[in-house]
Amino acid sequence: MSDDCIFCKIIAGDIPCSKVYEDDHVLAFNDINPKARIHVLVVPKTCFDRLHEAGDTHVGMLGRILVGVGRVAETTGITGSGYRVQFNQGRGAGQEVFHLHAHVTGGGSVPT
Ligand code: AMP
Repeated sequence: MSDDCIFCKIIAGDIPCSKVYEDDHVLAFNDINPKARIHVLVVPKTCFDRLHEAGDTHVGMLGRILVGVGRVAETTGITGSGYRVQFNQGRGAGQEVFHLHAHVTGGGSVPT
């Protein structure tokens, strides 16, 4: 856990969130500033940021994020209408929180 990471604080329960899904590996919660009717963040419980630094030891964690994405799609009812999965990496790509997370957007108004 990083002391200055807002997602670590949410995972620790120090900051509230609107939880959508949780298992032993990930926490998924509604984005506080949604860009679509459904906008959920899937966050691994281990603090890791940069996909290009991932290696063999991260394969399980990365897979767990995608499993969490699927559970979120089911839970929010967007498997039929479609959804987008996005990982912002770096400030140039719009990343604001430097703890790896997947944006799941859907529900009829998926941003481009
Ligand atoms: P990114 O730009 O990919 O780093 O995405 C970070 C996302 O976290 C943004 O869409 C923010 O709206 C969202 N966010 C920041 N703080 C919170 C919070 N406390 N609860 C829920 N979502 C948050």
